[in-house]
Amino acid sequence: NREWHLLSRPVGWPKPEDFALVETEIPTPGEGQVLVRNEYLSVDPYMRGRMSAAKSYAEPYRLDAVMLGGAVGEVIASEAAGIAVGDHVLHHLGWREYAAVDAAKAVRVDPGAAPLSAYLGALGMTGLTAYAGLLRTASFKEGDAVFVSGAAGAVGSQVGQLARLKGASRVIGSAGSDEKVRLLIEEYGFDAAFNYRHGPVAEQLRTAAPDGIDVYFDNVGGEHLEAAIGALNLHGRIAICGMISVYNATEPAPGPRNLARLIPTRGRIEGFLVGDHYDLQPQFVQEVGPWVAAGRLKYRETVVQGIENSLDAFLGVLRGDNTGKMLVKL
Ligand code: NDP
Repeated sequence: NREWHLLSRPVGWPKPEDFALVETEIPTPGEGQVLVRNEYLSVDPYMRGRMSAAKSYAEPYRLDAVMLGGAVGEVIASEAAGIAVGDHVLHHLGWREYAAVDAAKAVRVDPGAAPLSAYLGALGMTGLTAYAGLLRTASFKEGDAVFVSGAAGAVGSQVGQLARLKGASRVIGSAGSDEKVRLLIEEYGFDAAFNYRHGPVAEQLRTAAPDGIDVYFDNVGGEHLEAAIGALNLHGRIAICGMISVYNATEPAPGPRNLARLIPTRGRIEGFLVGDHYDLQPQFVQEVGPWVAAGRLKYRETVVQGIENSLDAFLGVLRGDNTGKMLVKL
């Protein structure tokens, strides 16, 4: 069994020396556990936060210990009632090849109903993040003009398509390459999209959304957030999902300078955590599952092969190497 350990807490961009791929024994499942051979590991932006010591919503990773993360795999031994050898499960013991998982913390998934990888993305955590953030936190309603940043990523691509399918008047996205921008328009059906590297976000947003926006789904923070506040319509809502532009910052980033606009617009900014919204999971799967199956809601994945490349896959998410959900295939 090979597994990734955190050796030191990164300052700024994580460096290879902060991590090690360590060889260990394959664990033996105890009473109530199953042994899982992981097939896909999830690498996610939030993991950068867990590499720091600062207390946050997720426990910091321990030093010299295997890191945690979403994974799906096949049960190859079972000491638990209700989960059999050959079943597939979703669980939180990623960054390793084999895991002894408490059956109570494993969720059975059906590889016949959707590709296994989708349970980590489009039908999994990132999909639910898009669903809960747009519908609940941003109180999306038909006719809203919706702007989403990180729009070619796992969460963002689903936000834009959900908004379209649910009757948005206009869907606008931003991303970091021309190829991603093309994908937003041509494959995901966004009405307008721009490459944030090509010029000031505020200017590009004004062109893309001449009548302003009612909802901004923020994956990025920084300049994007300020631009969105500047474009907000009356009773506009901003859901703060992530702020990836500051995850490697070593100093506090400057805040939006135009918060006073929230007064005349009666605007609302609210952060959320997907973990608080798992009550929506059945409704999410019931509504979005058929759209995915019918190809009305499309998703991409960037799949990196081999556990030895997991760290590079993780850094790739922070750099924007991925289109859609970034995954490691073992
Ligand atoms: P993505 O698939 O969107 O991957 C991250 C993307 O961020 C990259 O592909 C890159 O795309 C973009 N990016 C990186 N740096 C910058 C930058 N400086 N400015 C603008 N864009 C940048 O990841 P996820 O879909 O998994 O996550 C998206 C966001 O949602 C993250 O902020 C994450 O932390 C957050 N999140 C929050 C959750 C919650 O419960 N609140 C749950 C899950 C995710 P590009 O090429 O376009 O730059």
